[in-house]
Amino acid sequence: MRLVIMGPPGAGKGTQAAVIAEAFAIPHISTGAIFRANVGEGTELGREAKGYMDRGEYVPDSVVNNMVADRLTESDTDGGFLLDGYPRTVDQLHELNRMLGEADRPLDRALEITVNTEEVVQRLLKRAEIEGRADDTEEVIRRRMEVYTAETEPLTSLYSEQGILVRVDGMGSIEEVSERILAALRD
Ligand code: AMP
Repeated sequence: MRLVIMGPPGAGKGTQAAVIAEAFAIPHISTGAIFRANVGEGTELGREAKGYMDRGEYVPDSVVNNMVADRLTESDTDGGFLLDGYPRTVDQLHELNRMLGEADRPLDRALEITVNTEEVVQRLLKRAEIEGRADDTEEVIRRRMEVYTAETEPLTSLYSEQGILVRVDGMGSIEEVSERILAALRD
């Protein structure tokens, strides 16, 4: 199973991605988590990404594309993978299609979790309290939503044209949403 998971900030992508990865026994590759780890370790990549992340902006495509291309050469992705937080721009989508096309292992599904925006803001503010993420202030949350709508939402039409888009309602408890997702993916 080769999958991407999409949805606005706070849609519960990370949580659901962990459930899906376990259910299908595939690695969960979160570009946001890789960036945060690099920021934490003070690597060159982390230094490059930090300013964008703190402002709620996207890290430049070239940086992200190279990082994902590298990750997808690792052997744990041979039996499939779940990409969380990538692709986020049309350019990244084309680049991913190119990488996977070259390796003759196209995506099976693109899963979009849909939510109500007001609920999402509340979830993110709560997460900010718990995790203390630097990019979870109200102003940055709003910026991240705007960027998602402008840059990432259009990708769903492209995946729909490719015939691989699966939309799942992300409202409800974690368990309810997981069940919906697993049912939709096993369909
Ligand atoms: P996330 O944990 O997926 O919300 O990602 C946190 C932050 O990392 C984002 O707000 C971006 O600044 C950066 N980031 C993660 N993935 C990407 C991507 N595919 N393209 C550009 N920036 C990204």
